Amino acid sequence: MTATDIAETPQILQPVPGFFIRQAVDNMAWIDMGDYVLVVDALEQAELEQEVMDAIKRTAGPAPVRFVLNTHTHYDHVALNDAFRKRFKAEIVSLAASRVRDEGRWFQGRRRVQMLPMPGCHTDEDCVVWCPDDRILLVGDIFGWGLIPLVGRLDRSSRTLLESTYRRLIEFDARVVMPGHGPVCTNAELVRWVKYLGELIDSVSAACQAGKSDQEILDQTAPPPDMHGWWRFLKWKHRDSVEKVLRPVRRGLLQ
Ligand SMILES: [Zn+2]
Repeated sequence: MTATDIAETPQILQPVPGFFIRQAVDNMAWIDMGDYVLVVDALEQAELEQEVMDAIKRTAGPAPVRFVLNTHTHYDHVALNDAFRKRFKAEIVSLAASRVRDEGRWFQGRRRVQMLPMPGCHTDEDCVVWCPDDRILLVGDIFGWGLIPLVGRLDRSSRTLLESTYRRLIEFDARVVMPGHGPVCTNAELVRWVKYLGELIDSVSAACQAGKSDQEILDQTAPPPDMHGWWRFLKWKHRDSVEKVLRPVRRGLLQ
């Protein structure tokens, strides 16, 4: 059942000219802005510094990296921040490091890039990065290929926040979506995931009402066939999601 995990082999994608995504278990992007380069997220392993710097130079050219945007500051998104700061005096931009107004911060150059706060789905400092000219959206860990992104618990209010945030993300109608980890996707996966969350809450609630035990619900709540190919979904994420839904349903926190 274990097909090759495509994220195990880092790959540099170029969805549009001048826009590069290093797709791996931890994702990062660098964007040619003309006279500078803008980086989004900075990986987990500091030892990748030389490899990444070489790749940026090879693909985007010798312009300096002026900004590093962190979608949030978990350790697996910030390891190379210092390297960019030291080499280029790059400004590190995140909700933790700087003030980003609710309406977002724009970066201008050959193309436009907007960093937009959307806190609460994964951390209190979540931001997304929207590139309207390319219709590329970088969502950090708000989308996790089937994973419920909340660090805190699922309840009525966090569910409402997830659903309203996803509505905003889906409205961009992005052509390419870069999650924090694993393969890039499209708007369709964002639509599918929020539907999955609703379906899961409904089916677990119905199973509880029908008197099923926790074990029965964990064993019998099947992953939707159309999501079987999602990155690491069958391996552990679906079961993790069922558990995360079951607890608050039992305690009446979701109805
Ligand atoms: Zn994270």
